[in-house]
Amino acid sequence: MAKIKIDLSGKVAKPQVVVGIDLGTTNSLVAWVNPVSKQAEVISDELGALVPSVIGLLPGGEARVGVLAKGGLITEPERTIFSVKRLLGRSYKDIVNYQAYLGYRIIDEDNDSMVKIEVDGKYYNPIELSAIILKAVKVKAENALNAEVNQAVVTVPAYFNDAQRQATRDAGKLAGLEILRIVNEPTAASLSYGLGLDRDEVHTVLVYDLGGGTFDVSVLQIEDGVFDVLATKGDTALGGDDIDRSVMRHWQQLHPALQGVTAAGDIQRLRLVAEEAKIALSKDPQQIFVCEFTLLDGSAVSLTLDYTGLEAAAKEVLQKTQDCIAAALRDASLKPENIDAVVMVGGSTRYPQIKTLLESQFPHVSVNDTLNPDEVVALGAAIEADVLAGNRKDILLLDVTPLSLGIETAGGLMDVLIPRNNKIPCKVGREYTTSIDGQVNLKISVYQGERELVAQNRKLGEFILKGIPAMPAGFPKIEVAFALDADGLLKVSAKELRSGVAQQIDIKPQYGLTDDQVEAMLLAGFQHAQEDVAARLHQEAINEGQQLVYLAERFIEKNANLLNENEMEGTKQRIFTLSCLLAERGDKDSILAAVTELNDYTRPFAERLMDVAVSAALKGKEI
Ligand code: ADP
Ligand code: MG
Repeated sequence: MAKIKIDLSGKVAKPQVVVGIDLGTTNSLVAWVNPVSKQAEVISDELGALVPSVIGLLPGGEARVGVLAKGGLITEPERTIFSVKRLLGRSYKDIVNYQAYLGYRIIDEDNDSMVKIEVDGKYYNPIELSAIILKAVKVKAENALNAEVNQAVVTVPAYFNDAQRQATRDAGKLAGLEILRIVNEPTAASLSYGLGLDRDEVHTVLVYDLGGGTFDVSVLQIEDGVFDVLATKGDTALGGDDIDRSVMRHWQQLHPALQGVTAAGDIQRLRLVAEEAKIALSKDPQQIFVCEFTLLDGSAVSLTLDYTGLEAAAKEVLQKTQDCIAAALRDASLKPENIDAVVMVGGSTRYPQIKTLLESQFPHVSVNDTLNPDEVVALGAAIEADVLAGNRKDILLLDVTPLSLGIETAGGLMDVLIPRNNKIPCKVGREYTTSIDGQVNLKISVYQGERELVAQNRKLGEFILKGIPAMPAGFPKIEVAFALDADGLLKVSAKELRSGVAQQIDIKPQYGLTDDQVEAMLLAGFQHAQEDVAARLHQEAINEGQQLVYLAERFIEKNANLLNENEMEGTKQRIFTLSCLLAERGDKDSILAAVTELNDYTRPFAERLMDVAVSAALKGKEI
């Protein structure tokens, strides 16, 4: 809810409003929950609600955004940036096939870092450009509401990877927005229809999003406030534009005069007429669309289209979306009858045939299409923003944990119990044991972070499980359980299952961590991935070596009578070699070689011991 603040100068400060932003490939939208009506509403001004995701970079360096920049797509393509979302978090290699489609210049730096765009000798990256759009949307909302907008929820496609999500977050920051959360578009769309707001309800939702140039289908499992993406499939080159092109081809086949048109202006105009026909027939399938089309050379053709013609033109696009649905259901191991709600998103779902198809495919559910399909993502983002701002205490929208949580195991290794991005609340248990005979205490140290060695992670706390009954090494069964609740509070407990000895602590993992620190920790994990794995393998070899030295020493001590002098000497010598290597933390391969050497050497003795034990047992039976 908007709060009025009064500052000391006596002036009434503007109310602070949190918004939801749909940062789209073609259009962006901003919405808020109106504190009076308590309803999510799209924010609109004299230019409308949709902000075309288009940036005109003017020679002076300023930028023009949205409706005001759109004209430049035709007049100044080299300085008019569109489809930035397709470049966000991507390298040149990722998008090289797509470049021909863009009118502006993309730089090939021959590396894996994010692409750059060049205009007038200046370089821009997709984060800055997305920030320009977000800034424009922020200002639009501020002016329309006469308020200050500093916090937002921003949506991204479900298939966005970490780099793309991070890039979106960074763009928000650059635009002067605190990003409360990055939310998946299908999640937001479901929320706009109220799906997931009642925590007692369980839903399996299929979200069908057909826009201008992209198609996404996602299957979500909504339970207890958690939106789990079970599967997501899509086609980044499939959408309403393909229907337009197909209508164009239909006309070109009918009218030889159109077949030779090559002038870019003619093609663009013909495409726009095709789109107009599609939209007109979608609104009123009974009518027949008629248009007198004049070519640049002065000749004219009469273009007509009826609904049957549109159906024929759209058939292939629809078939492809059906194939994606089938694939998504397969990925999620679900049948159509397992889906209990369908949500339609994207301007192209206004074409009535789509609803007809979805209804025939999911006959047992009613398709959610009452809201404006352009707006549902932004509306859902606004609802989520409102909840996160603490305005709706009745709803709890759950998150995932941003960093991995685990405990220290032998040699300072990080053993992850709850991996990052795991949804919360959650509970995980794992069994551990002791490595020394008669060990009665076990220290449980809890860490957070992405590195393989705990030394480089963040220590959250520790406790000692005391009073484990003395048993041989490897005998105690110690279960360590992590329970992370909805507020992000972690309970760590340890219990020795044979004796029932138990101990636990409570920790707040995110306490004192800023967003930036979380990001830095994540980044460190990625950057050091390779050396970390090497360090882990090295440490694991050392652990194995230490365990073997321990066992071998005990063996020769207890079974001295089984070995002759030579064998005893040979064993001791190999134990010594391995111990020295361990003491100086020799390299992994040398340690593993010494481990194999000692193992191979002592294996016959162990077998001999077995034989003795077995024959003793057999003798026992005989008597
Ligand atoms: P994007 O997700 O790519 O930003 P949108 O969701 O805004 O795209 O959808 C744009 C597409 O919707 C265009 O192809 C447009 O022709 C189509 N569209 C808009 N209104 C209608 C309508 N009434 N009937 C059919 N298609 C429509
Ligand atoms: Mg869209």
